[in-house]
Amino acid sequence: MPDTETGREPDFQLVSAMFFKKYKDYILGRYRDASDGYRFHELLRSNGFARDLYNSSRRLCTIYDNGDWHSKVLETLDLELIYANVDKMPKKKEEEYTDNLVKELLRYFKRDFFKWCDKPDCDNCGPGSSKNQESAGVVGPNADESKYDCGVVELYKCKNCGTITRFPRYNDPIKLLETRKGRCGEWANLFTLILKSFGLGTRYVWNREDHVWNEYYSPYLERWVHLDSCEQSFDQPYIYAINWNKSMSYCIAYSSDTVIDVSKRYILKNQLPRDQISEDDLQFFCSYVTKQLRSSMSDDELYKLACRDNLEQLEWFPKGTGDNLSQTKTEGVGRQSGSADWKQQRGEHGK
Ligand SMILES: [Zn+2]
Repeated sequence: MPDTETGREPDFQLVSAMFFKKYKDYILGRYRDASDGYRFHELLRSNGFARDLYNSSRRLCTIYDNGDWHSKVLETLDLELIYANVDKMPKKKEEEYTDNLVKELLRYFKRDFFKWCDKPDCDNCGPGSSKNQESAGVVGPNADESKYDCGVVELYKCKNCGTITRFPRYNDPIKLLETRKGRCGEWANLFTLILKSFGLGTRYVWNREDHVWNEYYSPYLERWVHLDSCEQSFDQPYIYAINWNKSMSYCIAYSSDTVIDVSKRYILKNQLPRDQISEDDLQFFCSYVTKQLRSSMSDDELYKLACRDNLEQLEWFPKGTGDNLSQTKTEGVGRQSGSADWKQQRGEHGK
């Protein structure tokens, strides 16, 4: 509509520039405001769940930014094979290259590199003997095992020869490059480091009901994409709730610059009670830790990430009638990793 005094169309570019300037100031002001430290410390003091999340963030947001580790990963993986396979994959735009790289890394990791391990083979009987193993409890790590950030060691007794075999659950991802076996914890841990080693935007996602996986920021799709290395799964965030029929309460993602509640991406049904912390406190907790992680960034970097965060939140607004569910019904396959018995015990054997 023409301006009544000048008779000219208002200059929308100027108006939107003013709006974005004010918006940017508002966002940066929120990041630079340090007045909420007291609330954060009170929250950590009074809420065990917040303390657990905070302790996890101190590990998961920082350990993977390690140049020596990245070099180790790149020396160990078969880069020639990986890049040859990526070059063969079709792509519509140049930006799709990293999606293809991630898909190939998922394939390589599951098919050629890492092994799922419900029970280890017997040390004495060798390959193929895991079926004779029965659980003989857990113990702490010995001196050698504890060098590699080992929490517990599972013991297995062979029904064939009586030998006790140790299965140390290592958390040191470099040790996992050598052992190349484990369950979802080991898979997600090493896969996080692999993605980081290729310079990709990477998150480690923790689910309270005993599963972990990854997300990667796709420059092609311009959003965070679900990845599950155990399942060789790319962009299928519905697999847990729908395909596995898994019940969940919280899914929290960690990266070097963010802690965020991503539950809405994954918990499409079978929602368990979220009674560990108030929703408001959880949101406050995530933004506070995120603010800390971003404290040394420039204004422009901060603003860019804040806009990306806001776009991500928009993904979770309801889009009408059960979009997320209907797309999944035809694609359903159950959990791929783990034996039938093991999945049954966990209630993750699908419908
Ligand atoms: Zn044996």
